[in-house]
Amino acid sequence: MEEVDCVVVGAGVVGLAVARALAQAGREVIILEQAEGIGTETSSRNSEVIHAGIYYPANSLMARFCVEGRRKLYAYCAEKGVPHINCGKLIVATNAQEDAMLAGIKQRAETNGVEGMRVLTAAEAIEMEPNLSCTSALLSPATGIIDSHNYMVALQGDAENAGAVLVIFSPMVGARVVDRQIEIDVGGTDPMTLRCRLLVNSAGLHAPFVARGIHGMPQDRVPTEYFAKGNYFTLSGRSPFSRLIYPVPVPGGLGVHLTVDLGGQARFGPDVEWIDAIDYTVDPSRSDSFYDAVRKYWPGLKDGALQPGYAGIRPKTVPRGAPGQDFVVQGPQTHGVPGLINLFGIESPGLTASLAIADHVLEISRTG
Ligand SMILES: Cc1cc2nc3c(=O)[nH]c(=O)nc-3n(C[C@H](O)[C@H](O)[C@H](O)COP(=O)(O)OP(=O)(O)OC[C@H]3O[C@@H](n4cnc5c(N)ncnc54)[C@H](O)[C@@H]3O)c2cc1C
Repeated sequence: MEEVDCVVVGAGVVGLAVARALAQAGREVIILEQAEGIGTETSSRNSEVIHAGIYYPANSLMARFCVEGRRKLYAYCAEKGVPHINCGKLIVATNAQEDAMLAGIKQRAETNGVEGMRVLTAAEAIEMEPNLSCTSALLSPATGIIDSHNYMVALQGDAENAGAVLVIFSPMVGARVVDRQIEIDVGGTDPMTLRCRLLVNSAGLHAPFVARGIHGMPQDRVPTEYFAKGNYFTLSGRSPFSRLIYPVPVPGGLGVHLTVDLGGQARFGPDVEWIDAIDYTVDPSRSDSFYDAVRKYWPGLKDGALQPGYAGIRPKTVPRGAPGQDFVVQGPQTHGVPGLINLFGIESPGLTASLAIADHVLEISRTG
């Protein structure tokens, strides 16, 4: 049996950030990834937005890690040359009821420590974005976009330079707690058993499944997994907007918004579709509701301009309609298993928050 200090399960953006933090702190790290490479799941199926930290309840992990992670992420991108643009975002109101909601959103953002939020009149917003239709807007200058794949490659490089080893095609298929250590069964092409002092479960959508497979992990601490798919539609031609354009939020998501990638390609989404099993197919007929939603703030959207794009799936820990989703970070103080840290429900803003989540995991690994 092989022995290693730390095992991180999952080479998505969060697992890679955690592996980097642990390796740079001098720990020996193996990253187990069941797929053929890094970031093949949620980390490559998102909006690639560097979120400011606007909407999350005060003092939630999402609020804390988004604001802290965003500041760290901009600094990291600048240092490593990861492509990104601090383009800003407008949250747009299209009627009197939504106008009234903007002040509350601004207040919440400021409570969370988001810098520079400003309410704009319709005229001010339209001067910034001439294709926009709105009754007022909220400007978030701290929001930006990032090349998420390039970011993950940079994290992997840092982790490997600090001695971490990524092993692909290597799913963790089970584990058990033995003598304050954890014995892990690894499947795939080279099955083996690994014994480690620290196991970080960063398996994204599969994290509850992975946790359930650890003999000795109290099963009542493992949340049920729920999946909320987000479908995207892309726009042919160049983006009509230079900033990101969001409607006021809807239950379960941020509303059908416009984001732009670093190549200038505009995409709309994600919507919210609750599903029972992982399925990334985009149903073209869902575009009907997109046209209605988008035309509220961009009446210039032409019939037939939206093409099915891609989908990502939000790893939810609470069912449809239930409030209170937050990141769930469980260390030994929560579940009683020495050397085990579970990351559940790492949906948006997990990409933005990744460096802050990694620092938090490092802290738990030191203090228990
Ligand atoms: C529609 C959508 C839009 C989003 N937009 C944004 C955004 O704009 N900005 C933002 O900040 N965040 C956004 N997010 C959130 C962000 O994408 C996620 O929080 C982040 O990618 C989660 O990364 P992860 O590493 O936890 O999970 P993942 O990327 O899913 O990685 C988990 C990895 O674990 C591996 N794995 C699973 N089981 C096993 C096993 N048993 N053994 C070995 N490996 C295993 C998987 O193969 C996968 O590679 C969005 C999410 C969604 C769904």
